[in-house]
Parts: sequence; C-alpha cells; structure tokens
Amino acid sequence: MEFTEELSQQRKSDQERAAVLANPGFGDFFTDHTAVIDWTAGTEGVSGTWANARIEPYGPIALDPAASVLHYGQEIFEGLKAYRHADGTVWTFRPYANAARLNRSAERLALPQLDEGAFVESLRRIVQADIDWVPSGDGEALYLRPFMIATEAFLGVRAAREVSYRVIASPAGNYFGGELKPVGIWVSHNYARAGRGGTGAAKCGGNYAASLIAQLEAEENGCKQVLFLDPFNNEAVEELGGMNVFFVMKNNKLVTPRLTGTILEGITRSSIIQLAQDRGMEVEERTITLGEWREGIANGEIQEVFACGTAAVITPIGVLKNGSEQIGDPEAPAGEVTMALRTELLGIQTGVVSDRHGWLEQLA
Ligand SMILES: *Cc1c(COP(=O)(O)O)cnc(C)c1O
Repeated sequence: MEFTEELSQQRKSDQERAAVLANPGFGDFFTDHTAVIDWTAGTEGVSGTWANARIEPYGPIALDPAASVLHYGQEIFEGLKAYRHADGTVWTFRPYANAARLNRSAERLALPQLDEGAFVESLRRIVQADIDWVPSGDGEALYLRPFMIATEAFLGVRAAREVSYRVIASPAGNYFGGELKPVGIWVSHNYARAGRGGTGAAKCGGNYAASLIAQLEAEENGCKQVLFLDPFNNEAVEELGGMNVFFVMKNNKLVTPRLTGTILEGITRSSIIQLAQDRGMEVEERTITLGEWREGIANGEIQEVFACGTAAVITPIGVLKNGSEQIGDPEAPAGEVTMALRTELLGIQTGVVSDRHGWLEQLA
C-alpha cells in the first residue's frame, strides 16, 4: 500500500520535544503525525476497499456526530512499542502478531480486515515521520496505538459501511512509574469484563469501558489493578483489565489461565510461554482458581505471581485482595523467575539479547 505524506507545519520544537522526552509518562503526549487509511464497503458482490493511505499532521478528527462509533462503540485497537537500539535503529516486536489479532478483533466487531503488510507499513511510516520522538532511555519506547473506528453517519443498528484505521504514537516511560515494585491486585466479584460469546477475546474499547468501574473499586481498596474471574462460576482466574497473569510454581513450572474465549490472547503472554519453555520450564495453560491461588501461596506451591502486557512488560504481583482477605505479601520483593523473564524479554526487545525467534521487525 502506498502512503502519501503531508508533514505537520506545527511540529513541536526540539526544545518542546526534549521537555516531553525528559519525563514521558504513559499516554500523555503524542507525536506530530498520524497514519490513516479509510475503508468503504463494497456494493452487492463487490468487496470493500481501503484507500487514501496517508501520513498527516496529528490533530482532532472531524467526525459526524452521528458516526456510529460514538453511539454503538464499533471500535478495536492494538498496542505495541518501537524500541531504539544502541546503534540508533528502531525496531518493533512481533507486529504481524498484532496485525493478526487486529483482524481477529475486526471479525468479532464486524469491522473490515486490514492487510497485515499495510498494518506494518503504517507503523513504519509513522515511526519514520516521527523518528525524533523515539526515546532512547532505559525502559523507554515509543508506544504505537493502531485503532479502527466506524465513521459512517448512521443511527440504524448494523455494521458501518465507512471505517477509518489510524495510528497514533506516544513516547512512553515506565508504565507504573518509578521502580519495579510488586503491585496489589483487587479481585472483582461485582463485575465481569466478558461473557460467553461476548467480546472478551477481542481488543475493543467496549471491554475497557466495562472494566472501569471495577478499576475504581480496586483503587478505592488501595489496589492498582483488578483481577477478573471467569463469568460462569466466579472461580477461575482470567486476567487483569489489560494484562494476562502467570504463576511461577515450584519445580520449574509456569502456569497461566488457558484461553477460554473470554481472555485476551496477549502477545507478551505467548512470548513468555516460549521463553519459559526455552529455559526448560514446563508451561501449563489450564484453569487455575482463586482457591488454588490461596492454597498455593500458603503451602509454597506458588512461588511468584506476575502480570504481563506490552505497556508494563512484566509486573510482579505482591498481594491479592479478595474482600477483607489478603493473599500474598505486599512487601515481598519481585521474584527471581519474574525478573529473569522480564530482563530477557526486554533484552530481546531492546536489542541487547539475541533475537533467536526472529521476533523483531526493523521500522527505521
Ligand atoms: C492488550 C491486552 C492484554 C495484553 O496483550 P499484549 O499483546 O501482551 O500487550 C491483555 N489483556 C487485555 C484485556 C488486553 O487488552
């Protein structure tokens, strides 16, 4: 796909950009450009087409107030990072896996399929236009946020016939800020993020909208994140609002909830499964209940627990708060296996550990 390019006349000055990059935070600042591709449905027997692939200045989107994304939430997104390596080149991690997942989400949300090559090209073009925004500090990256929205102005309920795919980019520091301290997690009993036949396995804004009230509940109880249980029996561990969960067991074993259709399949999750197997660990994808968590911490079967996702990479979980019950130790330091996997994964992403699985893709 050919992209046209209209460069911004209002690029941030070197000084303004340097001020942002000195303390990027997460998701607070955006680069000078955005990538866009528009889709229009075909007519009877003719498939829809993607057109007008372009890089344009970052700025507000003109949307008709009747655009269906604003009413029925027909939206999906992705998240991945561009890492600057020591030699100045910029790489991203398993972008074809993100492209494939975007298309799985698109299918579930009745949005059009986007060619995987066009997806990766859109990342390449925005990173090349905004290359000076890719930070080089330890643990820093340029977070890329591709998303697809229904733009058709139509209040009837059906899949939109006009759609827009976009990519924005945001320099990112450490997701949880500061040092890598184990976080406290709140068990949600009042709310679920997914249900049978629902959108739990799709990366869509609606899932996040549904999780926010549980996140507020977590914060009221002094926790950073929420753990959702399976919506059927309220027993099996599923995932956090935006991260998958792993348990380091004794005897060199790793356990993570199996993909049931209500869990989002993280690319970090599948990479960790591979890295653990490479280390000779046995990896089980299976049902793990809250009861097993409680007993495993008590009898030493479970040695470490961590959460993972692109934004925060790997984050140790200290304590699980289940109502007034506390499982684990809020003061426990990050576990050894957790830290080793984190160091290895970050090492591959940042180019200091050999990329033996061919996961890196050069963007610039
Ligand atoms: C994006 C996401 C994850 C993590 O996926 P990664 O590909 O590892 O970033 C986990 N759970 C949910 C609900 C997500 O949206």
